[in-house]
Amino acid sequence: MIYDVIVIGGGVSGLNCALYALRNGKSVLIFEGDAVGGQIANSPKVENFPTFMEISGSDLADKFYEQVQNRGAEFEYDRVISVEKQGNIFTVSTEYDSYQAKSVVAAVGVAHKHIGVSGETELLGNGVYYCALCDGPFYKGREVALIGDGNTAMQYSILLSSICLKVYLLTWTDKFFGDKELEKTLRSKENVVFMPHTQTVGFCGENSLTAVEYLDKQTGETKKLEVPAVFVAIGQVPNNKIFENLAELDANGYFIAGEDMSTKTPGFFVAGDCRAKGVRQLTTAISDGAIAAISACAYIEKQTY
Ligand SMILES: Cc1cc2nc3c(=O)[nH]c(=O)nc-3n(C[C@H](O)[C@H](O)[C@H](O)COP(=O)(O)OP(=O)(O)OC[C@H]3O[C@@H](n4cnc5c(N)ncnc54)[C@H](O)[C@@H]3O)c2cc1C
Repeated sequence: MIYDVIVIGGGVSGLNCALYALRNGKSVLIFEGDAVGGQIANSPKVENFPTFMEISGSDLADKFYEQVQNRGAEFEYDRVISVEKQGNIFTVSTEYDSYQAKSVVAAVGVAHKHIGVSGETELLGNGVYYCALCDGPFYKGREVALIGDGNTAMQYSILLSSICLKVYLLTWTDKFFGDKELEKTLRSKENVVFMPHTQTVGFCGENSLTAVEYLDKQTGETKKLEVPAVFVAIGQVPNNKIFENLAELDANGYFIAGEDMSTKTPGFFVAGDCRAKGVRQLTTAISDGAIAAISACAYIEKQTY
């Protein structure tokens, strides 16, 4: 079978792209290499999504999945490893199989950025984590550390403060870069210990984390903070390298796309957080998905197969 549209990524951007293409009468296959919903499924609370005063990220993802599935989308829970175009047909390959489509939309989002210090890879899953919602509950009633100073770091610290005895929050400066309301809530938490002007230099432990080693940038001293768990929330990096043959990437690895989400390859579109843009939020990712679908449908209509 040749699908009209293959969407790579089942985050909100990919799901909305699928919804628009399905309503346009197109056949749609969505690939998701991890969990449907993407990043937002890891958020405990969303307050800026229109129509819901407050909703958890996983509930939002579930509702969206249900809507798209009811419209007739097919899902493959597999990671795409390459996309090739021959003539006007795309071949999308996973490790085990390949699939064909008239048009492809990459809505592959972003992945967690790693600090790159000793112990980070070795202790991953044994005291070093990137998702507080997923792994925070394992440390109920204990002391944990969190590294980061943006919205995700603030959200995760607030969440952890309600589960853990104490949260040591290590930040590069004494400032937070994000939502002021979140910062106000964070600063009101009595069991959050603010540790500004710190640079993480290593994660210690043989089989599991025993301490976070950091440089106190004000005194120049290297110190150890003994905790069984650290959550790293220092930003994200794109997953776009495998599509370099089809689309231009900027210096940071994000897709360069037109307002219509088009790339240098006709029929290959991109959408959501994976795209070079100023604001990466639910509403902007969803908007990209709609535009990519409309562009993909218009592209297909102009082709002869
Ligand atoms: C903790 C947290 C809290 C947040 N809170 C808010 C908030 O309150 N409000 C707000 O507006 N925004 C929030 N955001 C940002 C928002 O979640 C993102 O902007 C949005 O979800 C991006 O959607 P996306 O579909 O572009 O990408 P993603 O959600 O990253 O989805 C991309 C999907 O593609 C899949 N994928 C990647 N590569 C492949 C491949 N090769 N093959 C198959 N599948 C692949 C991934 O597994 C992933 O599921 C938050 C983000 C985080 C991390």
